[in-house]
Amino acid sequence: MRTLQDLGLSEKIPVCLLGATGSVGQRFVSLLAEHPWFDIRALMASDRSAGKSYSEATSWVQSAPLPDRVAGMIVQRCEPREDCPLAFSSLDSSVAGDIESSFAEAGSLVVSNAKNHRMDADVPLLVPEVNSAHLDLAPLQQHSGAIITNPNCSTIGVVLALKPLFDAFGVEAFSVVTLQAVSGAGLPGVSSLQMLDNVLPYIDGEENKIETESCKILGVLEEGAINPAPIIVSAACNRVAVIDGHTSCVSVRLASEATHDDLLRAWDRFSAEPQQLGLPSAPARPVHYLTGRADPQPRLHRDLGKGMSVSVGRLRDCPVLDFKFVALSHNTVRGAAGGAILAAELAIARGLLPDSSR
Ligand code: NAP
Repeated sequence: MRTLQDLGLSEKIPVCLLGATGSVGQRFVSLLAEHPWFDIRALMASDRSAGKSYSEATSWVQSAPLPDRVAGMIVQRCEPREDCPLAFSSLDSSVAGDIESSFAEAGSLVVSNAKNHRMDADVPLLVPEVNSAHLDLAPLQQHSGAIITNPNCSTIGVVLALKPLFDAFGVEAFSVVTLQAVSGAGLPGVSSLQMLDNVLPYIDGEENKIETESCKILGVLEEGAINPAPIIVSAACNRVAVIDGHTSCVSVRLASEATHDDLLRAWDRFSAEPQQLGLPSAPARPVHYLTGRADPQPRLHRDLGKGMSVSVGRLRDCPVLDFKFVALSHNTVRGAAGGAILAAELAIARGLLPDSSR
């Protein structure tokens, strides 16, 4: 695994967290507490939180305890700081667009979970094991810093499961029905009266995100622009009473003939090949195929690969398309904070950290 010394750095990189008090912000705090490259230097949120200690400003809901060092830090307004070359954003999308742009203009490398810049033509929508070449877009941006985005939390799991099939056989179309966890709705989220004994068959904007982002991620970067993959996608999204872990039931039409064994081999090869990025947050196996007849399940499998692996199971024929299967990924780890941290590690390993921080 690459170390700070391999990167030519003698000290950890100071980072600020934008939207530190929310559901994803808390996950960032948890994952960065012991990170070998990054050091939390500033926590930022809205005026409602600014001036309070972090423990006062947020209702901690992670199972890991709130790290002492962070609990007493004072939350600040979202203003760029010269001493933080890297900013992770988990801001509400009503404010993320402008705030992230202002940080990039001030020279920061911004790695965002918000939707605002994902489909910008010059912004990488990154899943490191899938489309690392798209990072070459970042230096084309008109900022002194840069913005890199993390896809929608369901899209990440679906695309990681599809990428080996896309490379081996081509994917012409897929249909996906999601069963999404409540932590995906942020804090305080949906009420218990709406959620218990219930399924909500609507998540604002989610279906469109899966349908458009998947094609951008699987697209090809040519002459400074992404040519989206020509895949027909249909998504139907549901909120279910699960705390963490988005399940996706996927049916796929391939461009060439394949057997079940061919698909299993494609997933296996993908995980065995040098998707191994040598980065601190990269899972040893990005995709696990589980053979249990009722796998994968959120409670049992969301933490595989420390929450960074996608679990796939129940491969079978689809009478409408070609094959169907179930994919599960942890929405606030692989689908948000963990995915963003891995994206930042890759960007920094590729030399995208602003020069001033070296
Ligand atoms: P959340 O719990 O609602 O947190 C939102 C954060 O934004 C809070 O820190 C909040 O600070 C801050 N904020 C709100 N208004 C602000 C303002 N005017 N100025 C500055 N900061 C402001 O949401 P979340 O679930 O963590 O999601 C954060 C982002 O990640 C969203 O864009 C979401 O779509 C995306 N995302 C979420 C998930 C997931 O699984 N939850 C997955 C992928 C992507 P205060 O506490 O001070 O209000």
